Amino acid sequence: MTIRESGPGGAAQQTQQETNMNTTTSSNIIPGPSSSGQAGLPSANPSASYWLQPSDVSQRLDDYRSTPDLPQSADTVIVGSGITGAFAAWFLLEQTGGTKVVVGSGSGAGAEAGKEEEHSSSGGKDILMLEARRQPCSGATGRNGGHCQPYVYSASTPSIAEFELATYQFLKGFVAEHGIAGTVDWRTLRVVHAYLTEEVWEGAQALVEKLPEGLRGQVELVDDETSRKGKEGGGETLTLRDLRVLRAKGAVVQKHAASLWPWKLVVWVLERLLERFPVRNGTGTGEEGFNLQTNTPVLGLERLGDGKWTVITSRGNIKANRVLLAMNGYTSNLLPEMKDLIVPVRSQVASLQPPRDAANGKVAELDYSYAFVSEEEFPRDEYLMQRPLPGGELIYGGARSHAENKAVGVWQDDEVERGVATYLRQNLAPYPLDLTLDKTGSTPTDTPTEGNETTELEATHQWTGIMGFSRDSSPWVGRVPESLGGGDNLYICAGYTGHGMPQAALAARMIVEEITGKPFADDGLKLPQEMALTEERVRWVRENTKTLLKEQQQAPEWSATMPELLTATERRA
Ligand SMILES: Cc1cc2nc3c(=O)[nH]c(=O)nc-3n(C[C@H](O)[C@H](O)[C@H](O)COP(=O)(O)OP(=O)(O)OC[C@H]3O[C@@H](n4cnc5c(N)ncnc54)[C@H](O)[C@@H]3O)c2cc1C
Repeated sequence: MTIRESGPGGAAQQTQQETNMNTTTSSNIIPGPSSSGQAGLPSANPSASYWLQPSDVSQRLDDYRSTPDLPQSADTVIVGSGITGAFAAWFLLEQTGGTKVVVGSGSGAGAEAGKEEEHSSSGGKDILMLEARRQPCSGATGRNGGHCQPYVYSASTPSIAEFELATYQFLKGFVAEHGIAGTVDWRTLRVVHAYLTEEVWEGAQALVEKLPEGLRGQVELVDDETSRKGKEGGGETLTLRDLRVLRAKGAVVQKHAASLWPWKLVVWVLERLLERFPVRNGTGTGEEGFNLQTNTPVLGLERLGDGKWTVITSRGNIKANRVLLAMNGYTSNLLPEMKDLIVPVRSQVASLQPPRDAANGKVAELDYSYAFVSEEEFPRDEYLMQRPLPGGELIYGGARSHAENKAVGVWQDDEVERGVATYLRQNLAPYPLDLTLDKTGSTPTDTPTEGNETTELEATHQWTGIMGFSRDSSPWVGRVPESLGGGDNLYICAGYTGHGMPQAALAARMIVEEITGKPFADDGLKLPQEMALTEERVRWVRENTKTLLKEQQQAPEWSATMPELLTATERRA
């Protein structure tokens, strides 16, 4: 496998192709990347993510276009095919009622293509999904850490914690209802947040103490003191050794979390929609159905007098009744007015080979997923989940404090940074994580008794992806006001600050409810007000919070990589 690494200052230059894409149109409102932090278009040759390995699904969906030509018009255009775009399309189409219509034997890319005789009607609505790259879901969702863990004690407010828990439960139920746990490698587990220094451990305990009653039961604190008291009380108590983080100062164990193959979940959703809501006649004039077009970067948006929008793409223009921007870290490419509100930040991940027992070839099986937090010269904010055995690869990401300028403002994911890559390979085991087979301190990696020794692990893949950091750490969900380059019928759902898996699916439902004016279910779910895009919030945020990029330029010593588990609360405080 070829890995393109950049050294210090090695952020990739925009490719000629991308440069061309930004200039090949007559519109005068085409935004282009600038030195002020505006994102460019997704890189044409992204680094090789573990999750995007060639498969039968990728064979069906790479370069996929439902119709050879773009339609000239569409009811709804969704820009972006990650988890946000996919679930928005899902809720939009599901909400129409899904009447069954006989259309003959199925065709197209659906997994069940050719098997079903009936398809659901899209209720006269057509959805056009535009994806810049050749692979659907090849942005952050196809390049992340494979974690879905709601923040409970580390969420910025209890209502966001509740929303994340609801999203997690929704995804868990969705996977169960459709019988796809195996397909998407969904594994329900608990997550361990290991705090490696006293200062951050004290901070974490303080956050847990402040939790409202209803959320307190979701987390357990573990340190030497709780283990001792538990033993004295004669009960069963978790110890740091049980958690494999013997040398941490303490750990918070969260009840609800999961690991999964996020790309597989999203492409399952996309294939289901393609199969159930096929484009009817394929003549490219705004037919009803779900139309997915890859290799189609959106270059600009133009507001029309009748409240509709012209979506300008590399392949022609489309007139849309409404547009939903599901571009996350790339948002400011089309909405430069939001470049201080959603900042692209690059994150890096490695798939590491776990140490194998020399005698039997076995690897340790982890019962938990992990986050490692410390606040030292180089703050730690790494996250880890394990792939199923027998491979048991360790998907290990983070370490942005080792990236050039903490990778803030970087929207190119075609390179990995050498310093981060080396750090990730060298700083997992035996400290902070004990990878012995039986947690008792034997082969293949000995638990250190002192010091923070490490063993270099071999990487099968090393890759980067682009997150969308929100200025106040909450996503932006709603109609885009004129002051931000929007107007009626332009919507956004983005800015998850590196934490979209337990937010995006239900955030997508919330934006669909706003678009259609109809609740999807009678369950009382509401968008937390902290996530709503209102002019008042924009004003408040601009007056009261730091701009990630300005902060970087004016005070380079400021850490934009506060351990992300604590960032939300601290920035609001
Ligand atoms: C390395 C990394 C690790 C992460 N780990 C985790 C984790 O473990 N847990 C967690 O909860 N979150 C994690 N995140 C964050 C999470 O992946 C994101 O919040 C989430 O995937 C965002 O989904 P999305 O659909 O909004 O955006 P994306 O998945 O980024 O999708 C946006 C899509 O829009 C397309 N696009 C952009 N611009 C245009 C354009 N002009 N025209 C057409 N298409 C365009 C992109 O190509 C992309 O496919 C991680 C992110 C990264 C990068």
